[in-house]
Amino acid sequence: MENILVVDLEATCDENAPDFDMQIIEVGAVWATTTGEILDTFQRFVRPVANPVLTPFCTALTGICQADVDGASTFPDVAEALHAFVAHHRQPGAMWASWGAWDSKQLLKDSARHGIAPPIDLPHLNAKRLFAKVRHIGKAVGMAKACELVGLQLEGTHHRALDDALNVARLLPWVLR
Ligand code: AMP
Ligand code: MG
Repeated sequence: MENILVVDLEATCDENAPDFDMQIIEVGAVWATTTGEILDTFQRFVRPVANPVLTPFCTALTGICQADVDGASTFPDVAEALHAFVAHHRQPGAMWASWGAWDSKQLLKDSARHGIAPPIDLPHLNAKRLFAKVRHIGKAVGMAKACELVGLQLEGTHHRALDDALNVARLLPWVLR
């Protein structure tokens, strides 16, 4: 089976604020084999334009600080770099995966906001939903819980984009079973 691109995003947010106008602040991506072997990694911070000052809640959740995003490029530049990363290892029939549908929706949202083409032109696979289906668990679970269920130790820092993407990639053997 073809290699899989796994993507995880971090975004601006606030506590108990469902209507918060979220924007991507970090992109993590890995090309992995279906057995979870990592072929290449990508990480970029993104400078948000709608709410450029991170909330204390967001910094506490992600560990991403104001200086990280202040020094970063805005979304169009990062999207272009991501698009190049996507192209680098893509095979005919390749797909991209994320843990849930949110990352896919947020990518489209930020692309529309900036009037650019979405950076990933591959079919999307909802690894969270697939994991629940394959394991016959009624309710989809978070990525950390999924690691726990299969006996994988969460690696790196949870809620950092590349570490999250790497952990999702490590779950692929259970997702694609
Ligand atoms: P994650 O990939 O789980 O780190 O989550 C991606 C983004 O979702 C984070 O960068 C936040 O913007 C948002 N998010 C995650 N968990 C929460 C939470 N408990 N409250 C508010 N926003 C959250
Ligand atoms: Mg994350």
